[in-house]
Amino acid sequence: MSLIVQKFGGSSVRDAQRIRNVAGIIAETYLQGNDVIVVLSAQGDTTDDLIAKAQEINPNASKREMDMLLSTGEQISVALCAMALESMGLPCVSLAAWQVGIQSTNVHSDARIKRIDPERVQMELDQHRIILVTGFQGVDRNGDVTTLGRGGSDTSAVALAAAFRADLCQIFTDVDGVYTTDPRIVPEARKLDEITYDEMLELASQGAQVLHNRSVELAKKFRVNLEVVSSLERKPGTKIKEVTKVEKTNIAGVAKDTSIARVALIGLQHNPGVAFQVFDLLSKHNINVDVILQSIGREATKDITFTVHKKDLVEAEEILNEHKAALMFDHIEADESIGKVSIVGVGLMSNCGVAAKMFEALYEAGINIQMINTSEIRVSVLLDEEDVNRAVKAIHAKFFDEI
Ligand code: ASP
Ligand code: MG
Repeated sequence: MSLIVQKFGGSSVRDAQRIRNVAGIIAETYLQGNDVIVVLSAQGDTTDDLIAKAQEINPNASKREMDMLLSTGEQISVALCAMALESMGLPCVSLAAWQVGIQSTNVHSDARIKRIDPERVQMELDQHRIILVTGFQGVDRNGDVTTLGRGGSDTSAVALAAAFRADLCQIFTDVDGVYTTDPRIVPEARKLDEITYDEMLELASQGAQVLHNRSVELAKKFRVNLEVVSSLERKPGTKIKEVTKVEKTNIAGVAKDTSIARVALIGLQHNPGVAFQVFDLLSKHNINVDVILQSIGREATKDITFTVHKKDLVEAEEILNEHKAALMFDHIEADESIGKVSIVGVGLMSNCGVAAKMFEALYEAGINIQMINTSEIRVSVLLDEEDVNRAVKAIHAKFFDEI
């Protein structure tokens, strides 16, 4: 007998028919003699709809109240799915994060899971019940509900799989696996049979929507046996593992991210500690910074340019302006119409020609690069937002059409 964690995304539980379909998958797994922990997302566009409802009342609602509201979506899903399993005569119980004991930090809207209390889940497993847990949420030390960031249900699933040493964690979605790029932009995109944790982590962090990046981080750390599969078709999905058989010369995929904005601090003093002060300030306000570039500047001053999430742009500008006197910069330039395109692959480590090939594709497409940033297995470029899809197509064609 195995313990299997199965997570179903919003589109997989969109309506009554889809919930019955999901209940069928869960039932089959359970009736094969497995223990099953199910993690569900909110139905369809529920989370977006709830955000819209909040906007109507108060566009500046506190993050605590937003969490209170948004966490209700997942609660609807688990209750409805439990009802579907009940109607099939299967023993089950739906549980919210606070009932399971999914302890998180108190950073509302972006909380991190710290630990999961074993008692309740173990008790239910001992009774051979199917356990349905709300994804996307945790509970902080005051007992307040938190949420884990958009797409966070994947992380709930992997955290449960790690905590209870599940044999397998399956992420069910409406596509049949991880693709070399978004098939909606590039119809020729290919499904990958397998991908390494590191590659998946980079792709997820660089905007590929399949998996929440923290879920991959956790899967790698705790060696969770993870796979992405379709809830609508029965076919093999993509396995995420430590090492894969991919050809060394190739890349695993191309990702894009248009949710970022660029901030440039112009005319900073050329003194030690300036970068520290800027980024320390932003991190104290929980603002994540991504691509950072410091220019040589002129005479006694320099510029620092970086990217933040679009949703954090206004706050970042406000905070920096408040500290303008202490930071001693001349002015801020912000640009929301940028995007980032990245290539990812373990093959990059041993192949210096890979980055050049990406730049060649952009050159041939007549696309200007604004900033470049790399890691061991990734190259990212910042572009005009309107060039992003064209860039993805050109780069994907360069790497995948030739083979
Ligand atoms: N319902 C949440 C969202 O839409 C969490 C998730 O689906 O994973 O972001
Ligand atoms: Mg998702």
